[in-house]
Amino acid sequence: MSKLFAIFGDPVSHSRSPLMHNYLFKALHVDACYTRVHLHDGSKLRDTFFSLKLSGANITVPHKEAAYNACDEVRGFATTIGVVNTILLEDGKLIGYNTDADGFMEAIKPFGTIKNILILGAGGTAKALASRFLQDGLHVSILNRSEERLSYFKNLGLSCEATFGCDTWESFVCKSYDLVVNTTSAGLKDDLYPAPQTLIEEILSHTSYVADAIYGKVTPFLALAKQKNLTCKDGADMLLYQGVLANHLFCEKQFDLKTTADLMQKSFLL
Ligand code: NDP
Repeated sequence: MSKLFAIFGDPVSHSRSPLMHNYLFKALHVDACYTRVHLHDGSKLRDTFFSLKLSGANITVPHKEAAYNACDEVRGFATTIGVVNTILLEDGKLIGYNTDADGFMEAIKPFGTIKNILILGAGGTAKALASRFLQDGLHVSILNRSEERLSYFKNLGLSCEATFGCDTWESFVCKSYDLVVNTTSAGLKDDLYPAPQTLIEEILSHTSYVADAIYGKVTPFLALAKQKNLTCKDGADMLLYQGVLANHLFCEKQFDLKTTADLMQKSFLL
């Protein structure tokens, strides 16, 4: 029977995931289809998954933490961070995974050696990246608009030896970074910077590399980084590699990662 997959998000119309997965299914003659579901209420994710008879799903902003709660079992790196971006149906149960962090690590490989990282934002993506960076012994700092979500990172910092700053815009003191990553949704639906412009200007003067998790548009943050001639990239490669790892799970690992990546990359040209 043909399998159906979907991406859940709010917004979700911008997502390139359907294109990437459907391109691969078609090219490799996989009897499956991938659609998008605009979901306002994350608590409805589980019921919606079953009512659509899905075989698997990806989850994007702002439902990745709700996705963790929707699962019967969580495996791998997702257990460390409580954030799920990929769900697989296995024997009637929802199994959760996180492929964002490893996808991002693959995406920043061309930057070379990175030791000090500033993450803008403290949501699901920031949690995934911070935990992954710490796993590799990198120095991580977090800057977020509001205090509430910083407690997770403060707790994370207590259990490691890395220099770990967790600040709001008010308490932040800029240091030097190898890489600054925007994981906020500022710039996704609006033209906002992820922090006040003066702060962003200062941060961009203290980093070598810049990455934005947002793809498909040049955010004001990325535009400013480009204007300053910094080496930067948007979220397209992160999207590609998290999708490659998710598809590997959807297709029960029958295709190798390089074949999957090459095909999905081709879908970007459509
Ligand atoms: P969450 O909803 O979990 O977190 C959003 C974060 O953004 C919070 O820290 C929030 O701060 C902050 N924020 C929202 N609006 C603003 C604003 N106007 N100014 C400053 N900060 C703001 O989102 P996710 O972590 O799931 O996703 C974040 C972004 O990353 C999205 O744009 C998503 O599309 C992108 N993404 C891209 C991927 C890719 O493959 N390229 C993969 C994963 C995510 P506060 O706590 O104060 O509310």
